[in-house]
Formats: sequence, structure tokens, C-alpha cells
Amino acid sequence: MTKFNDSSMNFSFTKWSLERLPEYIWIGLIFGYYGRNEGMRRLFLICKKLLEIAESIALPRMSEIFSLNDAEQSKVYQEILKIISKDVLSPLTLIFTYSTNPLFAENFVTIQTSVDDRLNILMEILRKTTNNQSELSTDIRYIVLFYLSLSNKLHLGTREQVDLLTQYSLMNHENPVMQQARPFIRSTEVMVFNLFEISNEEYTSLFWERVSKMTECSLFKIQFDEEKRDTDHYIHCLKEIYSYLCELFTNASPLDNKMLVLLGIATYSFKRIKEVSDHKLFNTIVGRSSVRVLIENYIMMKYLVKNESSYEDIWRDFQEYGIGQFKLIVEKSKEHSTVRETSHVDYKYLDILVSDFKHEYFLDMDTRYFDNLNIRKKAEIVDEKELYDLYYDYDSAFEHGLWGAIRESSLLSCNNPLHHYHCVPDINDEQNLKSVWPDCIMVMNKTIDVLDELYGIPDSLVRGILDFERE
Ligand SMILES: [Zn+2]
Repeated sequence: MTKFNDSSMNFSFTKWSLERLPEYIWIGLIFGYYGRNEGMRRLFLICKKLLEIAESIALPRMSEIFSLNDAEQSKVYQEILKIISKDVLSPLTLIFTYSTNPLFAENFVTIQTSVDDRLNILMEILRKTTNNQSELSTDIRYIVLFYLSLSNKLHLGTREQVDLLTQYSLMNHENPVMQQARPFIRSTEVMVFNLFEISNEEYTSLFWERVSKMTECSLFKIQFDEEKRDTDHYIHCLKEIYSYLCELFTNASPLDNKMLVLLGIATYSFKRIKEVSDHKLFNTIVGRSSVRVLIENYIMMKYLVKNESSYEDIWRDFQEYGIGQFKLIVEKSKEHSTVRETSHVDYKYLDILVSDFKHEYFLDMDTRYFDNLNIRKKAEIVDEKELYDLYYDYDSAFEHGLWGAIRESSLLSCNNPLHHYHCVPDINDEQNLKSVWPDCIMVMNKTIDVLDELYGIPDSLVRGILDFERE
């Protein structure tokens, strides 16, 4: 298995590569063998011969050549072999064998080139041509147009277009004129193909079926560096801050509900970040879930503080909203007879928590403001839209199992062009994700900053955690 690199991502599958490339692959092989200039010269000769022998061939497609009668086919191959060396098209004998296309195989099979070498040549050409806009793809498409103009079936609109077509083979790809010529070649070829409407599905699906079976998957995995930073040390420094705040709370203001709510949320964040460190969740999917919660908690804290004055008691509302959710769950559990003892939800315990809370409060509550859906809005209100846009939305994709997250985390890419670059489930867990740790620290330090503003944390303790952001 290979590791990811940029060049392996440079591909695309279009009607060109799926339907037309298999038909014109022989042209690509000739260019690959002889280079552009010499390839052009020999291809021109082949096109002329092809027309001479079998005028019925509309486009220089493999499937059309295969549909000729034996005598014509043999003649075509013999003429081609006078123009190019036998081994140029020998890679195609891996697909068109003695049993499927005896005449072709007979003429082009060679023992000089090993099966592996032939396969590599074929792969290389397909790799260079799966992109319908690559230089090689455009050259192949040019030959198709050249063939058509030879057979007087190409009617161009303007003198300029005729000139472009004539000059194309004479200019190299670096020539500035080619910036116009290439798109012109491509669009004309598409037009011609649509005009003829002669896609041979039987041939192309057979082509892809055979080539895809010839080779193994060439899987490549994305592997990010394992987290190496001293995360325990950060957690230790963080714990000192929490100890300080906790002591402040129990000693000075144990009945301060605002402080309880804020410390409660912050402690939930602390437990989540500690889980990441303790269980080494840095490069995992659940690590992303942790970042998401850290962001949501931080935004909620800022939101509550910011809107405190416009509520009678925002702290109590926040608590009631959350407990109210548990209350609903408990009530629903009583309606179902299928509640399992082993379920991770302990409804009896939840019932106790709900009842305890009810004792103290439970008034009509305004729940709109704590709704999950409003997190984007809240992020805007507290001026943290960037956190939402850059991280929260991405982490949510993992939380909701959206395809982007599935693609990134759970599927491996196959880099074999013969397999159409499909994906394979990563059931052996070979792929990891980029570490969440620096972002965990970034959001956690912002969280501590909120508490510092309100309760004043000694500088020495704050400095302890800030240093980690620079690592
Ligand atoms: Zn594959």
C-alpha cells in the first residue's frame, strides 16, 4: 500500500475516458512509443491506409476495426505493421487475446515484452489520458479529427478553424497558439462524436471489464503523523486552573448558579479534552466529535455571558432546557415496553436527576435560544463565526455521518486507472485522520479565557497553558 501524494489525485472520469478512450487507446500507445512528432507522422500514414482499405470505418475506433471481415482486418494489421513496430500495440494483446480477437492477437503479440511490461505501458497511457484535457488526450482527439478530414466528413466553419487544425500537429504544446487550439480540438471532437452517435457499449464495457480484472487494487492510504506532543503535560496545567476555579467556587460562592453553570460547561469540556489525551483519540473520528463539543461549549458560554442582562435568569433557563430534554426522554421510556436493562441509557437514573431538579425549579421555559440548530447564529452573535465555518461544520459532518466524512475517514482510494479509481472500504483501519490536538488546545484556551475574564485566574497558571499553543 502506498501513501498519498498529490499527483495520484490528478484524475477524472468522464464520457471521454469511459466511452471513447478505450476506442482510441491504440493511438495513445503509438504516441507513447514514438513521441509526439514521430507519432503524428506514423499515425497520419495509418489513417490514410485505414481509409484505403476500409472506407466504411467512420472513426478510427478499435471496435470498428474489429467489426471488419477477416480479410480486411488482416490487411489493416499488416499495413499498420509496415508503419509501426510490432511491440507498440502488443500491450493491447492483454485485452484482445487469441480467444477473443485471434487476428489481432496473432499480429501483435510479442514475446520480447513481458506481461508486466505490457501492463505497465498500458497503465501509463491510461493514466495520462483519463483526463480528457491532458495534452496526450488532446493529441489523440486530434488524430480522430485528422481521420475525419481525410475522409471529407469534417466540415469546419471558418478559415481560422481550418488553420488551427492544420497547424496543430506542427506546433508543440508550449506554443501560445495551442491555448486556443487545444480547446478547439476537444470541443470539435465532442461535437463529432455526438453527431455520429456511435458509442459501442458492448466494446467499451468489455474493455473495462477485462482491464480491471488484469490488475490488483493499488490502494493508497492517507497517513497523518501520530500525535507526539506531551498532551499529559497540558492536561496537568489545565487541571491546576480547574482546581483553582473549583476551590474558588466551593469556598467563596457555592450558591452562585451562574458560576455553577459556567464551570459545569467548562468541566464538560475538560472531561472531553482529557478523554482525547487519556485515550489517545488525536487521529480518530471521535477526536473530531470532541473538537465539535469544545467549540459548542465555548460558544454557549460566551453566548450566555453576553445575553445575561436581557434575560431574567438565563442560567436557570439553560439548565431547564437541558433537564427538560432528559425529562422527555424519561417520559418516552415509560411508554415503551422494550427498554433494555443493558442499554447505555439508564432511564431510572435519569428520572432521579429530573426529579431532583424539579424540586428546586421547573417553570415555563423559553427553549428557543438553546436549540442546537441555532449554533451558527450563536457563533455569529458572539463573534466566533470563524470557529463555526472552519471547524464546527466540518466536525458536524463526522457527527452526522455525511459522505464527505465517510470518504475521508472510512474509504481507501485505489490508484489503479484500470479500476476507474474506485474506493475500497477501509475495514482494516489503515487510514487515520489529522490530529485534533492543536485545535483542542486552541478552543480550550479560549474557554479558559472566558473564565479568566469573569473570575480572574492567576497569571502563572494561564501562562502555563498558553505556552502549548506555540508548540
Ligand atoms: Zn482497485
